[in-house]
Amino acid sequence: MSDSRTDHDHGPTMLSRRNVLKAGAVLAAAPLVGGIAGRAEAATKAPVASGAFNARAYGNASATGRLEPLQIKRRAVRPNDVLLDVLYCGICHSDIHQTRNEWSTLPTVYPCVPGHEIIGKVAAVGSAVTKFKVGDIGGVGCMVDSCGTCENCLADREQNCLNGASFTYNSRDRATGENTLGGYSERMVVSERFVIRVPPGADLAATAPLLCAGITTFSPLQHWKLSSRQRVGVIGLGGLGHMAVKLAAARKAEVTVFTTSPGKIADAQRLGAREAVLWSDTAAMKRLANRFDLLISTVPQAFPMQPFMDVLALDGTLVNVGALNQLEGGLVGMSMAFGRKSLAGSVIGGIAETQEVIDYCAARSIKADVELIRPEQLNQAYDRVVARDVRYRFVIDLTTGKNA
Ligand code: NAP
Ligand code: ZN
Repeated sequence: MSDSRTDHDHGPTMLSRRNVLKAGAVLAAAPLVGGIAGRAEAATKAPVASGAFNARAYGNASATGRLEPLQIKRRAVRPNDVLLDVLYCGICHSDIHQTRNEWSTLPTVYPCVPGHEIIGKVAAVGSAVTKFKVGDIGGVGCMVDSCGTCENCLADREQNCLNGASFTYNSRDRATGENTLGGYSERMVVSERFVIRVPPGADLAATAPLLCAGITTFSPLQHWKLSSRQRVGVIGLGGLGHMAVKLAAARKAEVTVFTTSPGKIADAQRLGAREAVLWSDTAAMKRLANRFDLLISTVPQAFPMQPFMDVLALDGTLVNVGALNQLEGGLVGMSMAFGRKSLAGSVIGGIAETQEVIDYCAARSIKADVELIRPEQLNQAYDRVVARDVRYRFVIDLTTGKNA
C-alpha cells in the first residue's frame, strides 16, 4: 500500500440512523466559531456554534458490510469543546472487532464509524476552552467523556468510570444521547478534557497509535512497576505488541516476544527484544519456565494460557489486554497456587496517563512503526490485520486538502 493521497471522489452512502445524513447531502462547513486552522490563529476564543454540522466519514452499516464513505452529523461545538480537523487515524484491531460485532458484551450499533487513535488540528474552540487554541495539534484516544464524579474518575482512571466511560465510538454521547462515531472522519468535536496535547515537532502519523496501542501497553508497565533488568514477555507482535516491546525496552527490561509468526522473529529483535520464540517451540517454552515477572498478552482472541502461566516466575502476572470475550479454560490451579501467579486484565489508561505516555514517547523519540493508507484502502488493511500481516500499525492519512 502506498501513502499517496486520496482524491475523495466517493459518493456518500445512504445509511439510516438519525446522526447520519441522507446520501447526496452537501458536506457543509461547520457553522463556526473559531475559523479554520491557519486562517484564524487569533480566534482562540470563539462563541459556541449554533448547530450541528456534517462531516465525511468511513464506516459500515452491518457486521458483514464493507467500510464505505458516508456522511455523519457532528454535534455543535459547546463552550468546553474543541473542533478537530482529523489528520491521521490509526487502525486498531478493536476497530475490526467492533465493526464486525465480535464482542459479545458490547454489541455494535450501526452505522459504525470506528477510529480511536486520532491526531487532529484544532480548527475551532468553544468559549470556555483553555487548553487549546486554533492551530494546535490534539490527540484523541479511546474515550471522549466520563461521569467525572465517581471515585475512579476523580482518581484519573476515567477508563474505569463507575458510570461507564463514553468511548470514542459505539458509545453514548453524554451531550446528545446519540451513538458516538469515531476518528475515521474528517472532523470531530470533543470535550477539551479528553483531548491530549501533542508536543510540537512530533511525527504525527507515528504518534497516532500511541493513543491506544501505546497507552494500553504503557499502563500495565506502570501499574506493575516494571523496572530495569526485570523480565517481561510480550505475547503477539502486532500493533499493541510492538509498542509493548518498545516501551518495555525503554525501561531497560529484558524483553522476550512470543509469536505465532516465524517472519517476525528478526523484527522483534530490531524493536528491542532480546529474543523471540514461537509458541510452537516446546523446547524454548520449557527452557523459559519460571522466568518472567510480567507477561502482556495482546492476542485478540482466547488462547491456551497455561503454557504462559508456566513461564511466569513466582509472583508473576499475566496481564491480558487482548482477548475480551470468554477466555479459554484450562488454567491449572495447583500451578498458579504454588507459584503465587496472577491473571489480570487492563483497559487502556486514564487521560492523565495518556498524556504521560505521549510526553514520555516524545522525549525519547519512541514512535509506532506505521504504514500509511488512503481511506479507500481500509477494507484491504482490515484483511491484512486479521491475517497478522501488519508491521505494525496501519494509519489512515486524512490530510488531503488540509493545512497539515
Ligand atoms: P493486531 O495488530 O492484530 O495484533 C495482534 C497480534 O496477536 C497478531 O499480530 C499476532 O501476532 C497475534 N495473534 C495470535 N493469535 C492470533 C489470532 N488468532 N489472530 C490474530 N492475531 C493473533 O491487534 P492489536 O491492534 O494489537 O490489538 C490486539 C488486541 O487487543 C485486540 O483484540 C484488541 O481489541 C485489543 N485491545 C485491547 C485494549 C485494552 O484496552 N484492553 C486496547 C486496544 C486493543 P504474532 O504474529 O506475533 O503471533
Ligand atoms: Zn485500540
